[in-house]
Amino acid sequence: MFLNRITKRASTVLLSGLLGVAVSVSAVPMPTTSAMGIGDIVGIGVGVAQVAQQKEMLTKQYKYINTTEEGREMLFQEFRKNQGVNDDPELNGKLDIIMGRLSEAVAEVDPTIKNLPYKYFINMDKSLNASCAMGHVMTVNTGTFYHLANDDEIAAVVGHEMGHGQKDHVFKSLTSRFDKELLASIGVALASGSNTGALLGNIVGNLALKHSIVHADKRHEWEADGMAFEYITHTDYNPGACAAVMQRFIDLMGTQKQSTGEMLFNPSDHPNSEARRDKYVKQLGEYSGNHVTAKNGTVFVNGNAFVTPAPAAGMSAMERSYFVFGNLAAAYHNHHSSNSAYVENGTVMLGPQAIFTPTGQDESADVLAERLNSIKDLKADSGNKKNDKKDKKAK
Ligand SMILES: [Zn+2]
Repeated sequence: MFLNRITKRASTVLLSGLLGVAVSVSAVPMPTTSAMGIGDIVGIGVGVAQVAQQKEMLTKQYKYINTTEEGREMLFQEFRKNQGVNDDPELNGKLDIIMGRLSEAVAEVDPTIKNLPYKYFINMDKSLNASCAMGHVMTVNTGTFYHLANDDEIAAVVGHEMGHGQKDHVFKSLTSRFDKELLASIGVALASGSNTGALLGNIVGNLALKHSIVHADKRHEWEADGMAFEYITHTDYNPGACAAVMQRFIDLMGTQKQSTGEMLFNPSDHPNSEARRDKYVKQLGEYSGNHVTAKNGTVFVNGNAFVTPAPAAGMSAMERSYFVFGNLAAAYHNHHSSNSAYVENGTVMLGPQAIFTPTGQDESADVLAERLNSIKDLKADSGNKKNDKKDKKAK
């Protein structure tokens, strides 16, 4: 999922969906072992056999859901039933476009998406989140459409989920727990003298249960963030949206105390969101060939301050700065920076790339275009010798 926390209601619903799968697995009759005593060693032997049997059965079930059309559709329908479907045509039209554009981008990076196109729907949850289950079954919360600033930010969230999907994180995460958790459970069962078979059944249920409560592996989150950035750079969406959306979470958390609405964010998300934003800032800087960066709301070009956007359109200065950063990064990446900056219909342009449309409190477009012209060709302030070398060669 995109955020660490899902609402209690959503997690319960998600659980029942996943448990539906798990229960059918644990319904398989299993031999029981006696309590501690003479049967200790026999018990362990039986337990290990049970683990192997359970593991094989679970893997089969998960593979069915993860890779077959029938299994995927089953999970999709189960999720729709449990989470509720928002049929709002405007929101669904929006998501269809985003999914279409992102799916094309993903296909350029990872053609396997063609074998497993995403099944997605908008659920009724009013908080900001999305999640991707096995089998490329994805759901976006209704709240996501209302809490984010624009389609670029929604694309950043959806791209993160597709990263989880393409890297098969849910399947990997579930199956990697088999050995550890199943074996540990047998140890507990034997030590406490309880019925190993029954306990194993519970553990199987818990595997699904835990996964939906405990956030996925942190490494998976970083990987999904990285994929989101890569995918978005294969679209026309602003690549700065990834950093911007993390900033938006941070800003929303700051105002949460004053909000009488639903509590969206867990305070423990705070440092995590900042670390994720900073990673995106770093990636975006590299994408620009280290010509552009942003810090505390100011965008820098070749080490020189270009603009500090004022807060506007419900966005903080920082959130807005990442969109300017994203446009400039795209301009440098796509070699538009040799063009002169100019103003068109109130927007600062660099070649065909729109950079910034000042409003209200911002400096004027003419002043900004002039400033950009004075700094855009200076030596990159990166300390990245590789890139400097490349630039020289290109000249
Ligand atoms: Zn995630």
